Amino acid sequence: MSGAIQPDLELAASLFDALSGATRRGRGIVRDSYGAGEQAAHDIMRAAAERLGLEISVDAIGNLFLTLPGRDRKAPRIIMGSHLDSVPQGGNFDGAAGVVAGLCLLSALRRTGVTPGYDLSVMAIRAEESAWFDVAYLGSAGAFGLLDPACLAITRSDNGQSLEAALTARGFDPRPIRERRRLLEPARIRAYLELHIEQGPALVANGLPAAVVSGIRGCKLFRNARCSGDYGHSGALARRYRRDAVAATVAFLHHMEEVWLAQEAAGADLVVTTGELYTDPALHGPSKIAGETRFVLDLRSLSDATMEAVAAEARAAAARIGAAYRVEIDLGTTSDSPAAVMDERLRSRLMSLLDRPFEMASGAGHDAAVFCKVGVPSAMVFVRNDRGSHNPDEGMALEDFAVGARVLLELLLDFPL
Ligand SMILES: [Zn+2]
Repeated sequence: MSGAIQPDLELAASLFDALSGATRRGRGIVRDSYGAGEQAAHDIMRAAAERLGLEISVDAIGNLFLTLPGRDRKAPRIIMGSHLDSVPQGGNFDGAAGVVAGLCLLSALRRTGVTPGYDLSVMAIRAEESAWFDVAYLGSAGAFGLLDPACLAITRSDNGQSLEAALTARGFDPRPIRERRRLLEPARIRAYLELHIEQGPALVANGLPAAVVSGIRGCKLFRNARCSGDYGHSGALARRYRRDAVAATVAFLHHMEEVWLAQEAAGADLVVTTGELYTDPALHGPSKIAGETRFVLDLRSLSDATMEAVAAEARAAAARIGAAYRVEIDLGTTSDSPAAVMDERLRSRLMSLLDRPFEMASGAGHDAAVFCKVGVPSAMVFVRNDRGSHNPDEGMALEDFAVGARVLLELLLDFPL
């Protein structure tokens, strides 16, 4: 096949318009997972696939597959896709851009009249955002039988409907989740390709339309860290008698900042965040030494080894600094999600296709992490997006989307189709 084939950008523009028209509620987009908004987006993609003459199927938990059939239907296929749900009052492009990109690639191939050697599918994935059911990747993880069946009882954040009830109400079947049954076989997937808007400022800052994603950062989250000391009079207690929880916590967090700087200087990928830090409002006061803090320590990296090393240093520092301040810093247990490194070969090919090659880690999670976890060679392209994501002001230009879609098409044509 020739590299002269271009993604169908007219189709992309019309799909983005249709999505915005059908799912805008006030300023923002509302495509609630397994709700009316997400379903409206699925209906739009399905109608587009019908017009393109693609094969359409829906799995038991509602993931939609739009397929250009290949000559050998039994050969492993390539899946392109992303999610169609959004956060409440989100933007029009987060998730949807990946599904639209897949469709405009299939439309381009359709126009050439060539039948690929094996199936090329666009997967419109259900319920990736955790905003509605407090679990991320419900659609993709569910498709690979990876969900804890207990998640069926989780209730939707706004209306209290359980996931099981939401599935059933849409005519889907919760049994595969209950039985941890696979709906997709990893061995039958040649590759997973996902285009997504960037959710930070790096591409705008660097003046670049698109980037290759090196991987999706894993996370080690100390959600219930706590520092215990003693309350005391701020004027009366000399320093050597104090057990000041705030002073110790500040010293500890400052140390973690220095660990981060050192890791960064050594070339490691790492982000360290404390997004919550409290004293007890029932007991603290302006003329008191605080006897307790509670805080969160969030470590993320592309390298599980880096996260392990930094977590071990955090525990050692907690003991050391705790002793120095005569307090106890208990970091508690972590909740962990492993890093997902994208396929080396696909990454380097994508880099070679960009006019100005740029590779970056994804700090946010994506369905590609799930495909990666089950061993499917996966690749992601980020498209420049002004003003961040998960808000009504996401700003992706169609020209930038075109750059991302083009490299994905080139990559697709690289496979022995
Ligand atoms: Zn997304």
